[in-house]
Amino acid sequence: MAAEVKTTCPYCGVGCGVIATVDQAGAVSVKGDPEHPSNFGRLCSKGSALAETIDLDGRLLHPEIEGKQSGWDEALDLVARRFSETIAEHGPDAVAFYVSGQLLTEDYYVANKLMKGFIGSGNIDTNSRLCMSSSVAGHRRAFGADTVPGTYEDIELADLVILTGSNLAWCHPVIYQRLAAAKTARPNMRIVVIDPRRTMTCDIADLHLAIRPDGDVALFMGLLAHLATSPAIDQNYIGAHTEGFGDAFAAAAALDINDLLERTGLPAMQIREFFRLFETTPKVVTCYSQGVNQSSSGTDKVNAILNCHLATGRIGRPGMGPFSLTGQPNAMGGREVGGLANMLAAHMAIENAEDRDRVQRFWDSPVIAAKPGLKAVDMFQAVADGRIKALWIMATNPVVSMPDADSVENAIAACPFVVVSDILKETDTTRHADVLLPSLGWGEKDGTVTNSERRISRQRPFLDIPGDARADWWQLAEVGRRMGFAAAFDFDAPAAIFAEHAALSAFENNGSRDFDIGARAGMSGGAYDELSPFQWPQAAGTEPNTTRFFAEGGFFHPDGKARFVAVKPPATDRTNAEYPFTLNTGRIRDQWHTMTRTGKSARLSAHIAEPFAEIHPRDAIETGISSAGLVEIDSPHGKAIVRALVTDRQARGGIFAPMHWNDQFAARARIDTVVAPITDPISGQPASKNVAVAVRPFSAT
Ligand code: SF4
Repeated sequence: MAAEVKTTCPYCGVGCGVIATVDQAGAVSVKGDPEHPSNFGRLCSKGSALAETIDLDGRLLHPEIEGKQSGWDEALDLVARRFSETIAEHGPDAVAFYVSGQLLTEDYYVANKLMKGFIGSGNIDTNSRLCMSSSVAGHRRAFGADTVPGTYEDIELADLVILTGSNLAWCHPVIYQRLAAAKTARPNMRIVVIDPRRTMTCDIADLHLAIRPDGDVALFMGLLAHLATSPAIDQNYIGAHTEGFGDAFAAAAALDINDLLERTGLPAMQIREFFRLFETTPKVVTCYSQGVNQSSSGTDKVNAILNCHLATGRIGRPGMGPFSLTGQPNAMGGREVGGLANMLAAHMAIENAEDRDRVQRFWDSPVIAAKPGLKAVDMFQAVADGRIKALWIMATNPVVSMPDADSVENAIAACPFVVVSDILKETDTTRHADVLLPSLGWGEKDGTVTNSERRISRQRPFLDIPGDARADWWQLAEVGRRMGFAAAFDFDAPAAIFAEHAALSAFENNGSRDFDIGARAGMSGGAYDELSPFQWPQAAGTEPNTTRFFAEGGFFHPDGKARFVAVKPPATDRTNAEYPFTLNTGRIRDQWHTMTRTGKSARLSAHIAEPFAEIHPRDAIETGISSAGLVEIDSPHGKAIVRALVTDRQARGGIFAPMHWNDQFAARARIDTVVAPITDPISGQPASKNVAVAVRPFSAT
C-alpha cells in the first residue's frame, strides 16, 4: 500500500498543496492536493516535476570543516566557539546570519530568536529582502503593519485585474491558471498588464501598458489625481478611515500630463483607457510583484498603488484590493517571525521600545537587539569591509543571486569565518565555507510555510533522512545551547517551536498587532501533525475566519487609520553613452532561483536550455547581434555572456535576462554579476530591473 502525505510545494509564494506518494519500492510521485484552498488540485510545471528533483546526487550528507568530513559535535562546537569569540572581541554586530525564504517558519523563528534575543544584534537578513521587502515597507507605511488585505479568491471575483510588475503566467503559474479560468467563465472580466516586456501573461490581457522601467509611480500618481475628480472617489471612506489624502493628492496633481507621458513612455490614449477602466470598475484587484518591489523606488510604487485603493475604498472587500504576490514559498512566514533585519518577531517593530521589551520578556533573554541590523546589500558590504567577521548563510546561494555578485563572492571568500547550511555539497557559495552543515531538503523537512494570501500550511516529511543531514532549526538550537543559552533553545521538535511562535503572537504578548495566531498557542504535537491550511489571524478562542482586512477601516496605526503617502516620481533612466541599455532581470517558467533543484530535471531544463538575453530586433541590428549568437552584457560591476534571443516582446532600449544560471553551467553565466547594488532607500530592496549595461556580440579573442 503506497503512503500518501499532504505537504506544500517548496517553490513559489502561491503555496500549492501537494500530495506526495511513496510506493513500496520507494518511488515518489506527486499530484496537486484537491482540498488545498490555494490550488484546488492544480500544479504548475515546477510543482509537477518535484519528484524528479529529490535524488541524492550532489547532496551534502555530512558536516565538513575546511573541506574535511567531521562529526556534528565537532562542527557545532566550532561554530559556537568562533561566533562567541568574535562577539566577545568585536561585539554582537560583528556577526550575521543571511537566511532564506526557503527556510520553514520554525527555522526562521529559531534563527531570529538566537540573533536578536541572545546574541543581541539585528544582523539577520534574508534573500526575501530581494523579493518583497518593498511591499513590507509599503504596507507598514500605509496600514501600520505588514498586512496583506485580501485573498486569492479576490483575483477571481474581480471585474478588473491589474497585474503590474508581475509575469503571473511564469512566476505564479497556479494563480494565473485560476485567473485565466475566471476570465473564461466571465468574459467581461478585464485584465491589464503593466510591464515593459510583452510577457506570456499578456496573452490574456485586454490592455498591455509597455511602461518605461520605473514609470509605475508616475502612472499611479496620475491615476490618483484622475480618481480624485471622478465619481469613484470615496470621501466617506477617506474621511472615516484615512489620513493624508490632501498631501498625496497635491503631490499627484502636481504631475502634469507631459511629465506623465514622458515618465511612463505610454501613449495618452492607453493611459486614458487604463484610468477609465479603474474609475468605472468597482471590483478591482491590483496585483504586484518583483517589477514593483525590485526598484530604487519600490516602496513608493507600493504606496502609489495603495493610495488608489484607499481613495476609492476598494480594499478588503470581495474582489477588491491591492495584492502583493510574494516570490518565495515562505517569504511571508519569515516576515511573521521577524526574519528581516528591521523587524521583530510576530510583526512587532524593532524601533519600538515597548515591542522590544515585550519580546525580551517573552523570551526571557539576556539582551534584545536595540536597533535594526544590516539589510542584505549592506550586510555583504559590511562583510567586504571587515565589520562582519563571522557569517552563517542558510539555504541560499548569494554568490549567484545577490547584486554585484562578484563583489559578494570576494567578500565571502575574505570573511574570517563562514558557515553554510545547505542541502548541496557544491554551490557557488558552499565552496567558500569554513564549515558546511548538511540540511534537510523538501520531503525531509517538517514544519510550516505561509503563502501570499496569509495561509499557513504544513510541509511534511515523507523521505528517509539521508546521511547525517539535520533540520536547520536543530542546527541553530544546538549552536544556541553551545553558546550558553540551553534553556531558551531546548526545542525537541518543530511543533514546540510553532507553539512558542503562536504564543508570542497572541494578543496578551503582542499588544494589538495584526498577526495573531494565539489560537494555536500551546498546540500539541498531534494537532500540529494534523494541521490543515488556515489563514491568519486566528486569535485565541476564535475559528480561522477573517479572510480580509480593512473593509471597515481597522488599520494598525495607533489611531486606527490608514496613511496616504505623498510619493514622488523617481528619476528612472540610468543609461549613458557607455552603458546605453536597461537590463531587467527576472525568472523563467521552469526554473527556480539558482537551479540547484530544478536544474536536476531534464524535463524542466528542456523548456529553456541555457541562459539568454532578450533584445529587440532593431537593437540587435544596430549592435550587430545575431539571433542565437553569444552576447556580452557588461556594467561597471561585472560581465555575463549569454545567448541572444531577438524578439519584439522586448521593448527597444531594454534587455531581459533570467537570474537562474550559475557559473557551474558556464563561465560568466551569472547575470547578477552585472547588477549594480542600488537599493530602495526605505526597504533596502535591490533595483534589479533597471540596470544600465552595454551589450555587444561576444568575441572570444
Ligand atoms: Fe509550486 Fe508555485 Fe507552481 Fe504552485 S505555482 S506548484 S507553489 S511553483
